[in-house]
Amino acid sequence: MTDTADVTRPETGQLDVRNPATGEVIATVAATRPEEVDAAVAAAVRAQRGWAALAPGERARLLRRFAAEVDGRIEELAALEVREAGHTVGNARWEAGNVRDLLEYAAGGVERLSGRQIPVAGGLDLTFHEPIGVVGVIVPWNFPMPIAAWGAAPALAAGNAVLLKPAETTPLTALRLAELALAAGLPEGLFQVLPGTGPVTGARLVEHPDVRKIVFTGSGAVGRRIMGQCARQVKRLTLELGGKSPNIVFADADLARAADPLAFVDNAGQDCCARTRILVQREVYDRFAELLARAVESVVVGDPADPATTMGPLISAAQLRRVQGYVTDDLPVVARGGAPQGPGFWYPPTVLAPADPAAPVAVEEVFGPVAVLLPFTDEADALRLADATPYGLSGSVWTRDLSRAVRMARGVAAGNLSVNSHSSVRYWTPFGGFKQSGLGRELGPDALAAFTETKNVFIATEE
Ligand code: ADP
Repeated sequence: MTDTADVTRPETGQLDVRNPATGEVIATVAATRPEEVDAAVAAAVRAQRGWAALAPGERARLLRRFAAEVDGRIEELAALEVREAGHTVGNARWEAGNVRDLLEYAAGGVERLSGRQIPVAGGLDLTFHEPIGVVGVIVPWNFPMPIAAWGAAPALAAGNAVLLKPAETTPLTALRLAELALAAGLPEGLFQVLPGTGPVTGARLVEHPDVRKIVFTGSGAVGRRIMGQCARQVKRLTLELGGKSPNIVFADADLARAADPLAFVDNAGQDCCARTRILVQREVYDRFAELLARAVESVVVGDPADPATTMGPLISAAQLRRVQGYVTDDLPVVARGGAPQGPGFWYPPTVLAPADPAAPVAVEEVFGPVAVLLPFTDEADALRLADATPYGLSGSVWTRDLSRAVRMARGVAAGNLSVNSHSSVRYWTPFGGFKQSGLGRELGPDALAAFTETKNVFIATEE
């Protein structure tokens, strides 16, 4: 989705980082050239050998120190996120804290990464979780800090080196995290941040034979291309792609809570778990639409550095054009909030009621504060509508009937369901998509295992 022409200056190989609330350039960062990627990979290969050979307790201790460095700089990291990504300051603080928590959680796994002993005749059979080697983590701009840590923290904990490519528009927090890793005492070369464009810096990471796994979060189009490239080397791959998640509201639900607009306006809707398909049982459709309209109109859109703000700007001019392109004049508007005029990339929270449930705005990922409201009749109809997209990332079910809640949560073809809640992501529970929303899982108790190869060793005990 990133329009790289908006953010790069090809003649100098530099990335201009803009404040999305004003459009001003706030920093210029050198893009990593392919030969620099190769040098970084070579350094990472060396660093990884030493890292994997360290005692587990020592690796855990260094990761806890990294977490402590981050904890001491929550305000600084949050301020950087507000400036380069336009996140509200409350969200940005939470995101910096999430990096700390991910590092602590991963550190707790280092000494628990135990294999199995399997009964065999004539000997002893053991399994080991060997690190994969060098892992490339390719990060989008929507949650630059958390998504960097979702990949990097468990990969490091499992004994790997990490080369992280942040998105073109948001390299600053990742670069700061790399400095904090060094300050914490992580070995030189073990965790490197390589800013640059996707097609040059990112593509080189994917192609490099010594990068043994890619963790990619971003658009489906780029994810599919990377999957094809990884296939050539049978390279390990985790994909977290888009979503078009349903918010399924039954007539017996707490309608006011179900109508919380944060479900699709948090982070200006630039969230792959955003509940942008609001499915409402027909008999409460009008009442729900009213509640939603009132709530949407009261969303405070403005300066992300102001703690009273609920929603900031979109990330870039390109993203603004993309969102505007979906909201065509023929679509009936159920609700629309406000947004600042003037510089910056602003779009008001908007709810539409397309007559056709298969309209592009109803089935494609807009990645802006835009939702559709669609009526359904019964459980079967709700399930049919919920699954009528190529995606399957998350979703919410609102009802007071527990049996129905369980039937629906089990029925929807998505990786992360919430009942009477809009939350999706906790670092200690698994996260990932069905269908075209992704491949593999991140986070949760098995996060470290995804960065290992299982090795089986048989030891004969018979002379
Ligand atoms: P979005 O901009 O919607 O987050 P993208 O898929 O365009 O989604 O970008 C996600 C990440 O993938 C960014 O870091 C981007 O630079 C990177 N990327 C884009 N194209 C490629 C590519 N061909 N190879 C590797 N990485 C890429």
